[in-house]
Amino acid sequence: MSEGVNLLKLSPVEFIHLLNSNGINRFFFVYDKKNKKAVSSHKLLKPVADFLNSDKRDFNFHEGLFFQISKKYDTILGAFVHRTNRGQAAGGVRYWDYQTMEDYLRDGLRLAKGMTHKNALAGLWWGGGKGVMAQNPNIDKSDPGIRTEIYKQYGQFITSLKGCYVTAEDVGTNVYDMANIFSNTRFTTCIPQNLGGSGNPSIPTARGVVAGMKAALKFSSNTTLKGKTIAVQGMGNVGGPLIKFLFQEKVKRIIACDISPDNIEKIKNECKGENLEAYLINRTDDSIFMVDCDIVSPCATGAVINPNTIKYLKSKIICGAANNQLEDSQRDGKELHKRKIIYIPDFLTNRMGIVNCANEQYGYVNGDPFIERHLLLDWKHSVYQTSLNVLKESKKNNKPTSEVAIHLADKMSKENHPIFGHRGQQIINSLVADKWHEQG
Ligand code: NAD
Repeated sequence: MSEGVNLLKLSPVEFIHLLNSNGINRFFFVYDKKNKKAVSSHKLLKPVADFLNSDKRDFNFHEGLFFQISKKYDTILGAFVHRTNRGQAAGGVRYWDYQTMEDYLRDGLRLAKGMTHKNALAGLWWGGGKGVMAQNPNIDKSDPGIRTEIYKQYGQFITSLKGCYVTAEDVGTNVYDMANIFSNTRFTTCIPQNLGGSGNPSIPTARGVVAGMKAALKFSSNTTLKGKTIAVQGMGNVGGPLIKFLFQEKVKRIIACDISPDNIEKIKNECKGENLEAYLINRTDDSIFMVDCDIVSPCATGAVINPNTIKYLKSKIICGAANNQLEDSQRDGKELHKRKIIYIPDFLTNRMGIVNCANEQYGYVNGDPFIERHLLLDWKHSVYQTSLNVLKESKKNNKPTSEVAIHLADKMSKENHPIFGHRGQQIINSLVADKWHEQG
């Protein structure tokens, strides 16, 4: 029994033991619109629903959170559905290690809401959601046999949710895992190319970043990338191609850094003859944010824009691909705005990852207009136009760009799908009516 136990402070494995001893394999929390509160599938889990209802930071009336314990390996399989007005909830599945159930739930809630914003702002007819699987520290997560089994079960789990959430690749999940998910569900994108998937999105993502930079320069100084100096953090799948695209735009100089000597060598070789200065750093070195340049582009990890780096920034523009660049979106967004540093929100510039895979089921055409229009200067929802709109609105209302972009995205995310309406919510209602938690 859970009396006296704070469920949120249990580790995922301890939580699973509690569920097992109470005969629970599936559970959910759904938002009851009539009574304006989240409700749990089981009485035992009411304290978790209470936690959601009292939380002001991460819970945002998420339509449904669904969970199942894997048959073997004591792993929590989760689907966090935030908002489905524009379409079924779409977002990747993360496989990560969490200390407590609170950490696990907060991450899923935050990431799912982030996908609602990213998808809506991109004009995609998709809602927002995220899959999160909590790693069990007692099993070998690199064992291919174990991974195969867990991801196949994840596919079955997604199938049982009848399409309210459509999964994809995310941190901790690889292309083989996606193939295993796909073997058990149709509700996934980002499957391997040889099975009909869309393949690596990094090149379009790098192009999206270029479009964001162009908008920032147009807005701030009515100039182009030509002759500019750019600093790039991270020379991987996105940072590498970004550097090459920037040289095509005739930038004067690029200063880049990475923690991997191999990645540096590779890009240096590919950019021979260009004015590229690339240097090796260790993980904690944030000297790239002190470089005197026109634009700094975070393309490595998150939380790199924080009080420690903001105070050294010489660049007047931040535009990169990394997710969650601001350590604290409100605090750091405000500080950048105060210092008149233009920040193009990450979920606006790095949308091409989801744009590339979201509509795989519609097939492929060369130079796909449904992908390419996001990179055009004139389409109303393109990265360029949306960035300009956000910048104009930020100036007009004297508000940080991050705040403006979220406000705009939130508004767009409440528009119903032109054909299917708010179908995701109907699916959730039917899962509850069918007592999904008692099946499987
Ligand atoms: P990647 O792993 O291929 O590249 C990241 C690079 O950053 C690597 O070369 C790594 O060595 C380097 N790196 C790691 N820590 C560093 C540090 N502290 N300082 C400098 N370099 C460091 O990843 P990626 O696919 O290029 O993605 C980069 C970022 O963009 C990630 O935050 C990712 O979540 C985000 N993103 C990528 C895509 C995409 O299409 N690949 C889409 C949306 C968002």
